[in-house]
Amino acid sequence: EVSIFWFRRDLRLEDNVGLFHALKSKQPVIPLFIFDDSILDSLPKNDTRVGFIHESLSKINNRLQEIGSSILIKKGKTTEVWQSLLQEFDVKEVFFNKDYEPYAIKRDSAICEILEANNAISYSFKDQVIFEEKEITKADGLPYTVYTPFKNKWLEKYKSMAPVQEYDTEAYFSGFHKNSFAFPTLEQIGFEESPIKVKPHNLNFISNYQDIRDFPALDQTSYLSPHLRFGTVSIRKLVNWAFHKNDVFLSELIWREFFMQILFSFPKVVTQNFKSAYDGIQWRNDEADFKRWCSGTTGYPMVDAGMRQLNETGYMHNRVRMVVASFLCKHLLIQWQWGEAYFAEKLLDYDLSANVGNWQWAAGTGCDAAPYFRVFNPEIQQKKFDEKGMYIRKWIKEFDLGYGEPMVEHAMARDRAIATYKAGILK
Ligand code: FAD
Repeated sequence: EVSIFWFRRDLRLEDNVGLFHALKSKQPVIPLFIFDDSILDSLPKNDTRVGFIHESLSKINNRLQEIGSSILIKKGKTTEVWQSLLQEFDVKEVFFNKDYEPYAIKRDSAICEILEANNAISYSFKDQVIFEEKEITKADGLPYTVYTPFKNKWLEKYKSMAPVQEYDTEAYFSGFHKNSFAFPTLEQIGFEESPIKVKPHNLNFISNYQDIRDFPALDQTSYLSPHLRFGTVSIRKLVNWAFHKNDVFLSELIWREFFMQILFSFPKVVTQNFKSAYDGIQWRNDEADFKRWCSGTTGYPMVDAGMRQLNETGYMHNRVRMVVASFLCKHLLIQWQWGEAYFAEKLLDYDLSANVGNWQWAAGTGCDAAPYFRVFNPEIQQKKFDEKGMYIRKWIKEFDLGYGEPMVEHAMARDRAIATYKAGILK
């Protein structure tokens, strides 16, 4: 008789809520990870994110081996994998942490049905956020769609319980099943090493984060995003620590939870405008323009540097993400879904809720979004945030040799965007 703990986007042993509860269950715990074909089949073979998952699992496995256990790695369609696991082991209880994306919610409910049919009990936990689902709502119980009141309520609730409980899994490590499952290589999973790597996170700058975070050349932000995406860092530890350090930084972590609760409450935002009044906008959706944006050859240095940073490293500084997103939607009048999909393919920190939330913010179609008549001027953004051109020169090698003409003139593009939005927005 065994319990299974199913790792998904929580790839760490420490302070892992579901794992903590699994280890306290009656049965020895087999830790499991499934490389899900439904997700992997569409990815390139050298996808950095798969490599990062593999590396993070390998670290977990090394630690488990020290205590005579190991992680069980499977690959396939999750329903099929679970059917066969239930044949292989006498599974009494299954523990996992919740994932709020529509695909994951559907997948988990299908798995829970299979478990129930096999007399295995499933338990799910909140782990990747401080507050989930309907924990932060307006007085009438409806979800917030504006950030500031959400943040105020979030802070009020957090302060009432700070620090939030952390879970000392290590105290229960004796609960792991003793075994030595083979740990597959990346190649055995059908993938290969990528030349790009996920950077370690960095929290040294934290005391003056608010002063430096907007300047891409300084490159002084935390690089936490892929770690939060895959759960190699605990949000509880991070927030309990950040709460005393820097309010602006904490606000960014609350933005993350805001977009997660928007996705949970309004799953249509994955593909559709949050504001349906914006559905009538006549996008130009010009394929050739889109290609120039993707390759970083628009003639606007700030936009091009950002896209080249993304293409080369899988990362782009937040200030520049805002500039390139606004440029695509407003200067080129290409619908946000195209840009969102491109970011999803390239970003190492790609997260459905944050990506969709921020893209809709930039397009003006989202909740609490930038107003439609606010059109970032890429040249002014450059002057303000990269005055000496250090960021631009880093990513555009040919910059000093004379840079090409902008593909659209700013004043024309701005007027065209405002007119198009105005005509398309339903009154
Ligand atoms: P820091 O400035 O150190 O911030 C710390 C953490 O706060 C981040 O790791 C992240 O978890 C959270 N955070 C910060 N800003 C935001 C924000 N605007 N929205 C939500 N969470 C935030 N972030 C993603 O994690 N995944 C995405 O797919 C993603 N897509 C984006 C698309 C666009 C168009 C824009 C404008 C922003 C996007 N962001 C996304 C938000 C933000 O750009 C990144 O989280 C940030 O740049 C990551 O770097 P960092 O960890 O060094 O950030």
